[in-house]
Amino acid sequence: ELAQIGVTGLAVMGSNIARNFARHGHTVALHNRSIAKTDALLAEHASEGNFVRTETIEEFISALQKPRRVLIMVKAGDPTDAVIEELAGAMEEGDIIIDGGNALYTDTIRREASLKERGLHFVGAGISGGEEGALNGPSIMPGGPAESYKALGPLLESISAQVDGTPCCTHIGPDGSGHFVKMVHNGIEYADMQLIGEAYNLFRDALDYSPAQIADVFTEWNNGDLESYLVEITAEVLKQVDAKTGQPLVDVIVDAAEQKGTGRWTVKAALDLGVPVTGIAEAVFARALSGSRAQRAAAVGLASGSLADKPADAEQFTHDISRALYASKIVAYAQGFDQIAAGSSEYDWNLHPGDLATIWRGGCIIRARFLDRIKDAYDDNAELPSLILAPYFREAIENAIDSWRRVVITAASLGIPVPAFASSLAYYDALRAERLPAALTQGQRDFFGAHTYERTDSEGKFHTLWSGDRSEVQA
Ligand code: NDP
Repeated sequence: ELAQIGVTGLAVMGSNIARNFARHGHTVALHNRSIAKTDALLAEHASEGNFVRTETIEEFISALQKPRRVLIMVKAGDPTDAVIEELAGAMEEGDIIIDGGNALYTDTIRREASLKERGLHFVGAGISGGEEGALNGPSIMPGGPAESYKALGPLLESISAQVDGTPCCTHIGPDGSGHFVKMVHNGIEYADMQLIGEAYNLFRDALDYSPAQIADVFTEWNNGDLESYLVEITAEVLKQVDAKTGQPLVDVIVDAAEQKGTGRWTVKAALDLGVPVTGIAEAVFARALSGSRAQRAAAVGLASGSLADKPADAEQFTHDISRALYASKIVAYAQGFDQIAAGSSEYDWNLHPGDLATIWRGGCIIRARFLDRIKDAYDDNAELPSLILAPYFREAIENAIDSWRRVVITAASLGIPVPAFASSLAYYDALRAERLPAALTQGQRDFFGAHTYERTDSEGKFHTLWSGDRSEVQA
């Protein structure tokens, strides 16, 4: 029997997705550069469905129904290019290559254009959910030609997560759009994790809670509007006791966060697009700072000042932290959706933000009750200037604002770093400000570089003759 789909690259992600396809009744052709991974998968899971074992690319390609559909799950970067090249050489017009790795979206744009010239469809698909999602239902963000989605969509939708009967998979848009939105998804994930980390840190250093006590707070939060996968696993991690020392595991883990690069990509792309994604940027920088171990070691003992007002009411402060977390999270998502809108207009992708909120409700790392509210917001008004302005979120922030400020004040007073809480609050205050100090910036730019400015009361560009008689001229 010919296979409906082929999967090449059978490491953690590829093998779990292959099993997911097989469990849903699809015949899956298996291929990996080294046969050992293929055989390991078959040795353990052959009984889960119909697999076709192949060794060479030629064998792999001839095991597939036409149009052939091949999902690549190899290391992003050069290995992906090498595999695409091999496949393309053996495939025929109309066949579909899907890259499910974490590719940089500009690579996907390049690959799609080059394969199109060769008559092949190329689909850059962001896949989120890690190992568990890959097996039991990930969130899938396929880009590429709309036409290819006809042959591919039903297959992908059958293995994705489902929420309220809706698959967490939809055609995102042309060429690199799928990988772009997956990248921003990961950026938001960074921000979400950083905010949770700051909340945890406040419990420890402002309220002197133990990890187990903090786990209980997160467990409770997971029953309310903060309900999300990341809040849920935070409680699990904080509850874990280290077998070797009997200490909370979190206390024996080195506090230097690593990163694979998708957060950094998000921020770089945001800088190029001119979109302020302060929450994501703070999260990426916070990981970098945590990893500067020599510098940190040298700086321990620097002055902390004498303002050390601990919160008097632990219950009130716990509530405050929950509201600061919720409000900052709204800001992080609003910024992420702004970046998606900016990418969409830069590359003419015509992306639908409500669709993304829909497919992020399940399967992926940022899945949360919150995403339903985002979907509602865009259903009500697809042209929202900012998520923050949707009535639901506007009101949520109104209810959170005093708590949010108290948390930042307390953190600053106690010397507890809360870069993402603080910068999200600053973003919110800047966004709602009637006047910003940018007027002064424009004046300075005009002074040293004759860069001109606009006036509040008349059209056009103006310049003050700073080194002359300081009269104003129209530029
Ligand atoms: P890895 O990123 O560790 O990649 C290992 C696989 O790539 C192996 O099958 C390996 O083959 C193959 N490979 C490496 N170099 C080459 C090459 N030059 N030619 C052919 N094959 C090559 O695997 P993961 O399963 O962790 O991830 C797969 C992809 O999915 C990556 O792009 C990753 O970024 C992305 N991803 C990962 C997630 C995760 O949670 N891990 C989540 C979402 C996406 P061999 O066995 O022969 O060495």
